[in-house]
Amino acid sequence: MKGQQDIIVVGAGPAGSTAAKLLADRGYSVLVIDRSTFPRHKTCASWINRLAFERFPYLMDCLPDLVENPFYGVTFYDREIGREARYREQRPSGYLSLRSKFDAGLLRIAVVAGAESLEGCQVVDVREERDGVRVRLADGREFASRIVIGADGASSRVAVAAKLRGGWGARDYVVCANTDVPVPAARISAFYGERIPLRVFLEYDGVQGYGWVFPKRNHICIGIGALLADGRSIRPLFSRFVADLRAHEHIPPDLAQEKIYFDIDPVGGVYRTPSLVRGRVMLIGDAAGFVSGSTGEGIYPGMISAQVAAEVIHRALKSASPAPALERYNQAWRRELGDYVKRLPGGQDEGKTRGRIDMIFRVPLVSRIAGRAFLYGEPASLMTLLRAL
Ligand SMILES: Cc1cc2nc3c(=O)[nH]c(=O)nc-3n(C[C@H](O)[C@H](O)[C@H](O)COP(=O)(O)OP(=O)(O)OC[C@H]3O[C@@H](n4cnc5c(N)ncnc54)[C@H](O)[C@@H]3O)c2cc1C
Repeated sequence: MKGQQDIIVVGAGPAGSTAAKLLADRGYSVLVIDRSTFPRHKTCASWINRLAFERFPYLMDCLPDLVENPFYGVTFYDREIGREARYREQRPSGYLSLRSKFDAGLLRIAVVAGAESLEGCQVVDVREERDGVRVRLADGREFASRIVIGADGASSRVAVAAKLRGGWGARDYVVCANTDVPVPAARISAFYGERIPLRVFLEYDGVQGYGWVFPKRNHICIGIGALLADGRSIRPLFSRFVADLRAHEHIPPDLAQEKIYFDIDPVGGVYRTPSLVRGRVMLIGDAAGFVSGSTGEGIYPGMISAQVAAEVIHRALKSASPAPALERYNQAWRRELGDYVKRLPGGQDEGKTRGRIDMIFRVPLVSRIAGRAFLYGEPASLMTLLRAL
């Protein structure tokens, strides 16, 4: 077994690498372990909102290494792709990337801050001991640390090994399909213009979820995510969506086929995870279910959960008994993300949500409020109304 670290982070996605960077900044010894070798693929549309870059200003110092291009606002389409509603902004609303690029950049930042990275190593078990936690890899090696952070994504091994959760239930996640089709930059700007917004197809074909077209610098990203608890299948839904996009001229008619990836997105899962801490093990990001129900957005919430966890860990390691002090995390995240991470698209009030979606296409002011709600998780309040004007 190797010498003890202060913190082991399992998973080097946006949540894990952010936690590693912030804890290394505070002087702790941090080991990040990921089963992949970076740059690696992660199925994702890779839209990162402006708030992430404001909250973590160090990202701006290496922007070209992290993202592809800015986007400006959002255009909504209804379920028949008949009506549209716009929310535009003059400055970037956020950035589009490829996760291979964004995540490799974040891991690099963590390593520059002092974290040690172990790639291509799958964690298979975590076991709590009297003064720490032991992490076992698939190749049999073991590592010890004072605290372990599970940042290993939606199908978290750490969550299960630490008995924080079993698998997700059928209504705990949306099923997604996504493809990034390579297209020359000149072709993309000729087809979509400059200062491109996100294109979001609300409740496409009546699903609880939405489809998207995100034109990036050298790719057109197409995808759909939906709660498919009724037994519908994602593959035919995605094929129909692409055919409809072509028919309505939302994508070039001769767009090539590219590999389609499928994955789950545990929307609002954090509300159905009774505790995010057990002893000296805690969960962040998708592993904890920090994904907004209304948008499926998990990068920004995952990075915020990492920041909250890092702060709680810092205080816990200064206290005489770290394990009880880590429990604070179960409350601390709510102040930061309780309003941001919505439970589910529609949730129990699905009928009400559908009525509101219809308003987006009938009342221009509502479309602007919806734009801010989508992009920044803002509530339908007077403040949002003023910002939307
Ligand atoms: C199709 C789709 C589109 C999406 N689009 C967006 C979007 O545009 N914007 C947005 O904000 N969110 C989006 N999301 C959600 C977003 O992808 C996730 O919320 C985000 O990736 C969570 O980051 P994370 O760091 O928690 O986990 P991940 O990014 O999943 O990273 C987990 C890491 O853990 C590693 N790992 C897993 N198991 C082990 C193990 N046993 N041992 C060691 N390492 C392990 C993995 O290799 C991976 O690198 C989308 C999701 C899907 C499915």
